[in-house]
Amino acid sequence: MKVVVLASGGLDSSLLCLLLQNRGYDIKSIFINYGQLAFAREWEACQNAARYLSIDSPLCVDLSDFGAQIKSGLTTTEIDVTNPYLPNRNLLFLVVASSYAVSANISNVAIGLLSSHVFPDQTREFIKSAALALRTSLGVNINVLVPLIGLNKYDVVRLAQHYNFPIHLTYSCHMGNETPCGRCISCLEIESALYALERS
Ligand SMILES: [Zn+2]
Repeated sequence: MKVVVLASGGLDSSLLCLLLQNRGYDIKSIFINYGQLAFAREWEACQNAARYLSIDSPLCVDLSDFGAQIKSGLTTTEIDVTNPYLPNRNLLFLVVASSYAVSANISNVAIGLLSSHVFPDQTREFIKSAALALRTSLGVNINVLVPLIGLNKYDVVRLAQHYNFPIHLTYSCHMGNETPCGRCISCLEIESALYALERS
């Protein structure tokens, strides 16, 4: 069973690879450079996570002009990093992953969405609609797997620790600096999850 996994080098998608691997999937991970500030560190982390999990080198797709034209706290320092909304980001990811999947004769794609959602393209409803649109557009059955969608960040960090996954290999900050900024939503979620775990 093969699956194309959208991998960003962050904790969620790295754990997603690990869980799918544990379920017996043969993983092809795909990394998308959408012009994010954190591209270089994310890509490095993505490759490190793949090496750790002994999966094939991730495919890197360059769509950096998307972020160059569509401004967001993820793609330019002109907008504060606390405003990371990038329209259609996850739909774009799914379009690329499913296109690759069809070309490689693979019928599963996976994305590491969690239960907590801030944007409309992070919900179960979005995934259901996107999967239908992709099947209609492609004319073949594509399954969109979201095995983390019942979990929050606390659960993800706890699971990563349970599997002794080296969290330090991952990179989740939206700013892209060596030291995580501590201000972006990704930093805040991981910090509060680690804090809660220490107290549990
Ligand atoms: Zn950050």
